[in-house]
Amino acid sequence: MLEIEKRIFGDISKYHGKVKLFWDMDGTCASMEMHMLQNKTDRGFFYCKRPIKTIINKMEKFQKSGAETYILSFCGYNYQKEDKMKWLQKYCKFIAPDNIIIIPRKENNVKKAESKQTLKAQYLRDYVVDSDIVYMIDDNESVLLGTKEELPFINIVSPIDFIE
Ligand SMILES: [Mg+2]
Repeated sequence: MLEIEKRIFGDISKYHGKVKLFWDMDGTCASMEMHMLQNKTDRGFFYCKRPIKTIINKMEKFQKSGAETYILSFCGYNYQKEDKMKWLQKYCKFIAPDNIIIIPRKENNVKKAESKQTLKAQYLRDYVVDSDIVYMIDDNESVLLGTKEELPFINIVSPIDFIE
């Protein structure tokens, strides 16, 4: 078993019911590769992404062991959020709808943050309390570091650490 898996499973058994995992989508559990629809703004763009099964299987394993699974993902606009919800219903049914946080960054009703790097922190903090053991898994290193700066108690992890 990988080091990071040992650590998370260890936390799950030690801090039962307090482990929360926040997973990014694009580049983490959904493939970043190019596909038939070229444009990011085309309808269906996010729905067509290929699932990264290795990661999704691990997400489900942690969930079954007692971790609370969340999605914490950006998109540009509200209509892309629908695409992402549909994708999650297809590939990640085990995630509770209330635990899906998709932030349409370019809509004006999103929370304010100094930068894209710290925006996820503004949302994440509403879902956790001090005694929680929180992991954030994201392929964007500057978003990870920005979130950690705002919320020093969280653990930040790259999805690559889950690949054998
Ligand atoms: Mg990403």
